[in-house]
Amino acid sequence: MTKRTKIEALLKSSQANIDVTVKGWVRTKRGNKNVNFIALNDGSTINNLQVVADPNIISEEIIKQVTTGACIAVHGKLVESQGAGQKYEVNAESIEIYGTADPEKFPLQPKKHSMEFLREIAHLRPRTNTFGAVFRIRHAMAFAVHNFFNEKGFCYFHTPIITGSDAEGAGEMFRVTTLDAKNPPLNADGSINYKEDFFEKETNLTVSGQLEGELAAMALSDIYTFGPTFRAENSNTTRHLAEFWMIEPEMAFYDLKDNMDLAEEFLKYLIKYALDHCADDLAFLEQRLIEEEKNKPNTEKSEMTLTEKLRFVSENDFERVTYTEAIDILRNSNPNKKKKFQYIVEGWGTDLQSEHERYLVEKHFKKPVILTNYPKDIKSFYMRMDEDGKTVAAMDILFPGIGEIVGGSQREERLDVLVARMDEMGVPKEEMDWYLDTRRYGTAPHSGFGLGFERLIIFVTGMANIRDVIPFPRTPGNAEF
Ligand code: ATP
Ligand code: MN
Repeated sequence: MTKRTKIEALLKSSQANIDVTVKGWVRTKRGNKNVNFIALNDGSTINNLQVVADPNIISEEIIKQVTTGACIAVHGKLVESQGAGQKYEVNAESIEIYGTADPEKFPLQPKKHSMEFLREIAHLRPRTNTFGAVFRIRHAMAFAVHNFFNEKGFCYFHTPIITGSDAEGAGEMFRVTTLDAKNPPLNADGSINYKEDFFEKETNLTVSGQLEGELAAMALSDIYTFGPTFRAENSNTTRHLAEFWMIEPEMAFYDLKDNMDLAEEFLKYLIKYALDHCADDLAFLEQRLIEEEKNKPNTEKSEMTLTEKLRFVSENDFERVTYTEAIDILRNSNPNKKKKFQYIVEGWGTDLQSEHERYLVEKHFKKPVILTNYPKDIKSFYMRMDEDGKTVAAMDILFPGIGEIVGGSQREERLDVLVARMDEMGVPKEEMDWYLDTRRYGTAPHSGFGLGFERLIIFVTGMANIRDVIPFPRTPGNAEF
């Protein structure tokens, strides 16, 4: 194959009048009998390359096949563009057609399509400007995650996707089995005999790599996991997926404050990375949001543009408040007094709903908030008990427009306290012996948190629905392709 140059590199070229080969998909073709202008995109950048095709050089037979969606290779000269809008264009000397796209049937038209419509055409979704931008940013963020931890000496640790422990406690699980669903082997009492299953026990898809991650932190000091995570919860929201990606660092010798400092530094680093490395894609997404907002009533228009919002979050300190302080703020808030909340905040001890989280972030503090020291009864068994015996060393980070983006805690490192908590909460100790061993042999204070990767991408891209920041969304009733 002729060596091609990517459009991203061509548009940044320092010299013109060179021979080039470009390959990509046709976005649009316009022109007349004297000249044709082809907008070509190869996914390396949001920007299209303008290809100029002269009918005296490129045959009519070929030009006819250059339609929206077709894949072509163009050989020609890179020249400075006469027209406005681009620095360079390519004067085609020859065009090779790799794949035509019947204009009668091609479903993508050069107009705006709804996100719902695009979710139904798997092969074309990534070819739109919006999804191209989102997936390039998603890639950049994944790279930045590894960069951040690598620079800090963290070890990327792979925890299992199929797990034998059902006590992770983070949500409903998907069962993994090879048993015949129609005719499973049964025990005498009629229950399913998992001894005959593939792993000779019940297994599920992981809801979190944390417990395994803790084992690694007790040896390698600083580790992180970054992998797919599954929750079978039937929550049909714009913030929940059944399959999502989570980043879970776990650090020996970190207390709650160290944990918060790391999480805040991490989020700021990722957002700054996007601003520094994804400028063209962010500019496109920002414009897209501005267009969308034009149709909204003034009260719903946001005060900041996308990049202003990102800059604001990366440059300002997050607000740190305890759960107890937050409850006081909420109790005295206008929407609570006027009963505007769907769930009225009455007493200490209730869990916060996302309307409450968003009030704190968007109305009260107007910046990201780290909520700490939640009541023990609404948090997991492994969180470290505070001195007061009522709260635990938990921390959730709440973001504007999203709510919870990070959930973490200092872990309970004291064996006796941990065991008492497990008993209190009905967590089966026998199955968790492997975990309790970390507290038996060389236990250490340690902390960690989980960042939902897609929630981060929602924030950075300004997309409204979590389904539109992952290539193949899995939600209740949806696992099409
Ligand atoms: P939520 O209360 O929003 O359902 P959670 O408290 O169940 O979240 P954790 O168990 O603390 O979530 O998971 C850590 C992080 O993983 C969350 O802060 C969030 O960013 C992300 N996350 C959790 N559940 C989902 C999901 N179903 N889809 C996408 N991301 C999720
Ligand atoms: Mn949480």
